[in-house]
Amino acid sequence: MATAAPAYRLFINGEWKESRTRRAVDNRNPAMIQEILGRVPLAVPEEANDAVEAAAEAFPAWRHKPAPQRGAIVARAAQIMTARKEELSRALTREEGKALRESRGEVQRAINVMEFTAGESRRSGGDIIPTELEDNLCYTVRQPLGVVALITPWNFPVAIPCWKIAPALVAGNTVVFKPATLTPMTAAMVVEIFQEAGLPAGCLNLVLGTGGEVGERLVDHPKVKAVSFTGSNEIGSRLYAKGAQRMIRVQCEMGGKNPVVVLEDADLDLAVSATVQGAFGSTGQRCTATSRVVIVEEIADRFLDRLLSQAAKLKSGSGLDESVDVGPSVDETQMNTVLRYIEIGKREGAKLLCGGERLRDGGCENGYFVAPTIFDHVRRDARIAQEEIFGPVLAIQRVRDFEEALDAANDVRFGLSSSLFSNDAARIFRFIDGIETGITHINSGTVGGEAQVPFGGMKATGVGPREQGTTALDFYTEIKAVYVDYTGRKRQSNLY
Ligand code: NAP
Repeated sequence: MATAAPAYRLFINGEWKESRTRRAVDNRNPAMIQEILGRVPLAVPEEANDAVEAAAEAFPAWRHKPAPQRGAIVARAAQIMTARKEELSRALTREEGKALRESRGEVQRAINVMEFTAGESRRSGGDIIPTELEDNLCYTVRQPLGVVALITPWNFPVAIPCWKIAPALVAGNTVVFKPATLTPMTAAMVVEIFQEAGLPAGCLNLVLGTGGEVGERLVDHPKVKAVSFTGSNEIGSRLYAKGAQRMIRVQCEMGGKNPVVVLEDADLDLAVSATVQGAFGSTGQRCTATSRVVIVEEIADRFLDRLLSQAAKLKSGSGLDESVDVGPSVDETQMNTVLRYIEIGKREGAKLLCGGERLRDGGCENGYFVAPTIFDHVRRDARIAQEEIFGPVLAIQRVRDFEEALDAANDVRFGLSSSLFSNDAARIFRFIDGIETGITHINSGTVGGEAQVPFGGMKATGVGPREQGTTALDFYTEIKAVYVDYTGRKRQSNLY
């Protein structure tokens, strides 16, 4: 007899609870859609309220716990995650689809972020500031905000929650976490790890359910003091506007249309291998994925010959197979979006060089697989050059020279990541100065980052302080300026 798929639970006030809802959806393995991993309850908005109330109640005690003690719990969570790394990586691949080595990389990133942020708990103080007043001490302190809501996407379901939860907690806030409905299993594992690390009840709460119901309730709840969101522009701009109505902080990290720029003096082998990894690794479902190559005409054919031969070697299939390079789209909707963009690319007159269809054999018969796809001669204003596709589709844009390349690279609404392949120092520094992205790589691909390095985008990609690095705590803290007057007399001079 087949065992029924387990129903995921909510975690509120330190307890795992069945949702009160009657509605649920299947959580399926996108590489093998017959495999149901669990049932996701679509919690009712009142359960989001319960989570906020629990977080609000836990806040006074948590904020008064010394920061290094809060950091110690996050450090313990990092150790537990290290011990559970393989289990978590496998769950990630089964739930989201990415190749196992990429899942391991993602989990390691989460561990690094937690370790780094735990360390910050011992030094994230304020500043002592010179004052014009005699016998006065002026300094700043950082204080937590209160209850923060963290709303996360499916494509990095371990690392992104950790890079929000860790700084939120270290700063002294309490958290309500709403993961993507497509990735509840890894979300629950992340929360379990924090629970096991000894986090007091109510400091971290998990609610599952749709963004439109549970997510919006969190954003609208008067006790929620800030919202950190990663996801699409469509939803981010909606939440930003809602937050503005209540004058609360909203941090949004959203889409990208990241270019690799290749100049005539580039090392073509380096540029090709970085492009293949950036465009097709994680099935193109990374916010930093390479979705465009902007290349100088005179080397374009040589580059493309090598690119096509590398792309032809990629193996698609279940990410649990260690030899697989490219996993499935996360679900049918995402796959259909990718296939629709491929049709748009053809209609727009771009030249399809490879791929362009759904894969249905060779280990891909049971999942949502799209072949790695490359379009050449893509016009700058084409939709496949302008809009985020979030799949294994690469657009090649040919240009005359460096100036046109930089202009074309910037001619999109997004600004997350970019790369330049060149060995010309002057042009490298002009590129660094002029490229409108929050992250740029010289002679390496568009993907990748580190726990200690600020991460985020310009233009329509991001609003709010950068995540990760030493800037991560900025979003989660208020800065209070303090004057201590030890003259013992009425202030002699005025400050304006
Ligand atoms: P999404 O559809 O915007 O969803 C993101 C999260 O928002 C999910 O938890 C979703 O819940 C929730 N949500 C949806 N509608 C909502 C609403 N009305 N109110 C409140 N919450 C709502 O994005 P996605 O498809 O999961 O993720 C892919 C996107 O994330 C891409 O655009 C990618 O570039 C971006 N991304 C950006 C970064 C970065 O750092 N810049 C990193 C990773 C991903 P449901 O799942 O229930 O719909």
